[in-house]
Amino acid sequence: MSEQSQKAGFETRAIHAGYDPDPMTGAVIPPIYATSTYKQDGVGGMRGGYEYSRSANPTRTALEGNLAALEEGERAFAFASGLAAEHTLLQALCRPGDHVVIPNDAYGGTYRLFAKVEEPWGLAYTPAPVSDVDAIRAAIRPGETKVVWLETPTNPMLTIGDIEAVASVAHDAGALLVVDNTFASPYLQQPLTLGADVVVHSTTKYCGGHSDVVGGALVVKDLEVAEKVAFHQNSIGAVAGPFDAWLTLRGLKTLGVRMDRHCDNAEKVVEFLSGHGAVAEVIYPGLESHPGHAVAGRQMKRYGGIVSFRVNGGEAEALAVCERAEVFTLGESLGGVESLIEHPGRMTHASVAGTDLEVPADLIRLSVGIETSDDLLADLDQALR
Ligand SMILES: *Cc1c(COP(=O)(O)O)cnc(C)c1O
Repeated sequence: MSEQSQKAGFETRAIHAGYDPDPMTGAVIPPIYATSTYKQDGVGGMRGGYEYSRSANPTRTALEGNLAALEEGERAFAFASGLAAEHTLLQALCRPGDHVVIPNDAYGGTYRLFAKVEEPWGLAYTPAPVSDVDAIRAAIRPGETKVVWLETPTNPMLTIGDIEAVASVAHDAGALLVVDNTFASPYLQQPLTLGADVVVHSTTKYCGGHSDVVGGALVVKDLEVAEKVAFHQNSIGAVAGPFDAWLTLRGLKTLGVRMDRHCDNAEKVVEFLSGHGAVAEVIYPGLESHPGHAVAGRQMKRYGGIVSFRVNGGEAEALAVCERAEVFTLGESLGGVESLIEHPGRMTHASVAGTDLEVPADLIRLSVGIETSDDLLADLDQALR
């Protein structure tokens, strides 16, 4: 897509950015370039910048161009998973002896990466609450803190961090702000336009959107940071394969329409649950009662497709509701077209039991899909009895 049309609307970029129809065949969709190597036109004479598919592959290039356009970044990098993207980024930005500030309710896998992989390597970290800018400022160690890591909304409590405010706190201390934008997706929130330096995605979730591929991405604003990430992506090698890149790119084309329907359905579910006698509390940033409502309203287009709620009757009832649901599939992960229900305390967040990150035992998390909303409400009604 041309320079001019890079400034096109979100849905136009989602469908066109990163790839021009193939000049030889006119193919509208990039082929899955299942090739490891490329014929050279003489020693060291590369055609179109490709020599080996760890370094670059045309299907992956198309995905990376699309992601950069959607997040309004300079460059994007596609990885084998969200965690592969995160590890590569930390290797690119930090050295042993450095320090990072992370959310005290970061995604469990992110927390484990810091605690069990990066810290033993020499990277110190301090957890701070994402909604508390003063606590984040206090956690920064001047000169040592290289990265402030934000996730907003968080999982599963849907806590909101103020991206603009945290960006200025990080930059005052000479640190970069990294935002995990997985829950919002680039359709609802574009952290680079709010001052963040790097966006992280688990493209497994809303970007892919069909629960059929695991992937990750980094989108970068600054070309110097991009050079470091490019070097480490190639050196560590945890790249997205061509088929995975192709599936993710296909998912991204419908991101806007999917997210709007996810949000429509989530709003209906929130309204239904809020009036239900078996429900003790509904947690959703779109509710005025949510402490992050005003900040979310400023930085997000809508409030997303994830809804958490607590039931009366404690853990036993929460487990029973999860097991009675039929249209909502009992399962981990999120962001696909199908609705999912899970019990964080026993499933996604079982590993944080007994820590500060422990979640309420009567909590249920929904990833509200794009099925017919009446069917979703009827299913919740029968599951809640
Ligand atoms: C799933 C997820 C990740 C990790 O991504 P993978 O693709 O599973 O490696 C990171 N952050 C958030 C918020 C996630 O939901």
